[in-house]
Amino acid sequence: MIKAKKKFGQNFLKDESILHKIIQAMPKDKRKICEIGPGLGDLTKKLLLHCESVTAFEIDLELCGYLQETFSDEIKNKQLELVCDDVLEQWSAHALVDQEYHLVANLPYYIATNLILKALDDNKCQTIMVMIQKEVAEKFAAKTGQKNFSGLSILAESISKAELLFDVGPECFDPPPKVTSAVLKLTKFKNYCDEHGENKLFEDQEALAKFKSFLKAAFAAPRKTLIKNLSQIVPKALLVQYFEELEIPINFRPHQLSSDKYHLLFKKLK
Ligand code: SAM
Repeated sequence: MIKAKKKFGQNFLKDESILHKIIQAMPKDKRKICEIGPGLGDLTKKLLLHCESVTAFEIDLELCGYLQETFSDEIKNKQLELVCDDVLEQWSAHALVDQEYHLVANLPYYIATNLILKALDDNKCQTIMVMIQKEVAEKFAAKTGQKNFSGLSILAESISKAELLFDVGPECFDPPPKVTSAVLKLTKFKNYCDEHGENKLFEDQEALAKFKSFLKAAFAAPRKTLIKNLSQIVPKALLVQYFEELEIPINFRPHQLSSDKYHLLFKKLK
């Protein structure tokens, strides 16, 4: 029997009704599905019943051997491609896959935020439907004015519709994690890319990286005012002028400003 390894964030989803709910909520087109961390293959098995083509990335070589045996037919007939490697290594070396895809996965929680951010930046990725720690899912799906509205919410909201689908209790996993989980669905807007498949909001990767640094500064101390946080990187007098021009109240905290206004402010600061 294969034992779960803590260092790879292994909590295997065993609840049939939750697996069924994930499949029900998946996008219903013929695009490729990418799964990160197939584990013992319970979700993979269901995905293969519903999808034409699945690529799965698994870091644990012991699990990879098990998956290769379990899905030998699907691997042979090319319905399943199993990549036995660290998905982050793969993703930094080249595109995750060379066609449009949906990401459907029960993510390893220790790198979940990082993986969602990579998928948001990957213009080939159309939908991100992932099980993660509930608290993190809530941050991605938060709306302006909510206490947990953050840079992650703005990055998600700028290019996708964010939905918190349902909670999943620790008892649904083996071994049970210490936290409650939730399924988050981010459906990217159809028109967020131009005709070359590039994100229309940012002219290049450098501009996106600058926007992320700007958000980091804006939310550095969430209880302080936005202007105070931003004055660490921009002269205050300039900020006062831009706040006035954009009709942003001077006493606003970072979570109170909408994504649209964050983009407008960023454009001015550039
Ligand atoms: N999908 C399975 C399920 O639902 O039962 C397993 C989910 S478990 C929470 C996370 C899985 O991600 C494990 O199989 C783990 O080995 C794998 N994993 C962890 N880090 C990874 C990485 N960097 N690249 C690829 N797979 C990884």
